Amino acid sequence: MDHKKDIAIIGGGPGGYLAALRAPQLGRKAVLFEEDRVGGTCMNYGCIPTKYLLHQTKILKEVRETKTVVGGAGIGLAVTKAIVEAHGGTVGAASEPGRGSVFTITLPRPGA
Ligand SMILES: Cc1cc2nc3c(=O)[nH]c(=O)nc-3n(C[C@H](O)[C@H](O)[C@H](O)COP(=O)(O)OP(=O)(O)OC[C@H]3O[C@@H](n4cnc5c(N)ncnc54)[C@H](O)[C@@H]3O)c2cc1C
Repeated sequence: MDHKKDIAIIGGGPGGYLAALRAPQLGRKAVLFEEDRVGGTCMNYGCIPTKYLLHQTKILKEVRETKTVVGGAGIGLAVTKAIVEAHGGTVGAASEPGRGSVFTITLPRPGA
């Protein structure tokens, strides 16, 4: 097996991993060195995590500003929905005035 490479890329951020993907398309062999996490700042610390946090904060703000009909903080169902959906599941609700409500949580089987 030939371990010789044409290009050494230092850093597995968007700059690095795109170079590593493009190199073989151009007929070059590349090796990528990453000291922390492949994906770099954008995937692991910057763009994606900050946007996710902003999205969750917006949901929390909307829920807090929504008038509750009965007592309680009113965020339980929204938090439940966010957590269940983050795990690939769904939350369902069926309500009949004067009869009560039925909430259904469906989660995918681990590894499915
Ligand atoms: C909070 C925040 C939010 C952001 N939001 C956005 C956004 O919404 N949209 C957007 O377009 N951009 C955003 N950015 C900018 C984006 O993250 C950067 O433009 C992008 O990550 C730069 O990519 P890069 O590959 O040049 O560097 P990086 O992603 O920083 O990757 C460099 C990689 O090199 C590795 N490395 C460094 N030195 C060595 C070494 N000696 N040996 C081995 N590995 C090494 C590091 O561990 C790192 O993984 C955001 C940045 C931050 C901080």
